[in-house]
Amino acid sequence: MKVIFVGAGPGNPDLLTVQAQRVLSHCQICIYAGSLVSPEVVAIVPETADLYDSAGMTLEEIEEVFKQAQQRDIDLIRLHTGDPSIYGAIREQMNILDRHDIDYEIVPGISSFQAAAASLKTELTAPEIAQTIILSRTSGRTPMPAAQELEHLARTQSTLCLFLSVHKVVDVTAELANWYGSDCPAAVVFHASWPDEVVISATLADIAAKVDAAQIKKTAMIVVGPALARDIPVSKLYHRHFSHGYRQAEDSSVAGQK
Ligand code: SAH
Repeated sequence: MKVIFVGAGPGNPDLLTVQAQRVLSHCQICIYAGSLVSPEVVAIVPETADLYDSAGMTLEEIEEVFKQAQQRDIDLIRLHTGDPSIYGAIREQMNILDRHDIDYEIVPGISSFQAAAASLKTELTAPEIAQTIILSRTSGRTPMPAAQELEHLARTQSTLCLFLSVHKVVDVTAELANWYGSDCPAAVVFHASWPDEVVISATLADIAAKVDAAQIKKTAMIVVGPALARDIPVSKLYHRHFSHGYRQAEDSSVAGQK
């Protein structure tokens, strides 16, 4: 018997991995994060399975369901939104499983930051402008480590993808404008890949008002950075003067790294 942590992806069941789809459709016991996992994904679990919504459960109650599955010798699916490794709170569950000598594995999922980038039809990196993507959040009831406060992240001028933060979009964008400039592109994607998805593209100056007008208060990704602009430098990768292992340049006087 084992526990399988499964990434449910951002919402649209077509974005599940083949492995996630397979284990879900054979599952007999499933604990899912009801506040976030899309109902369309939960619907793949057979009707005969025991289904638990972790939104209303304590860690001890989850542990109890793990132990029951162990006693019945039946695999248990622990379904987390997006990819389980990002704000999934799976470490504490794996520690419990270690204590009970229960085996586990993880099936990765498409994270909501990736789904948001797809909805925005954007690339999160841009040559010479942004070669780093930061996945972060603002402090909520979970405080931020001091060295990772928004101000420090913003200094790097990376592309920022902020989870769990849209309710603070006014404060976040005001702070970021100090570092990126108020004309820096900013986007908010609510329910990326869901049927009721909302995409808002603006600048740090005006995005908060647009998010407020759209009444978006949760389950949204904030994406900020100059990489989101359309007028970025052309990459070396496809440049006709740039040679690499798979292609000879027309004029190899231009060399460099991808
Ligand atoms: N493990 C998840 C993140 C869980 S934290 C992942 O990899 O995506 C929950 C936060 O994820 C939400 O507050 C929101 O910021 C973001 N999120 C989850 N699903 C989303 C979606 N479909 N669209 C936009 N943001 C989403």
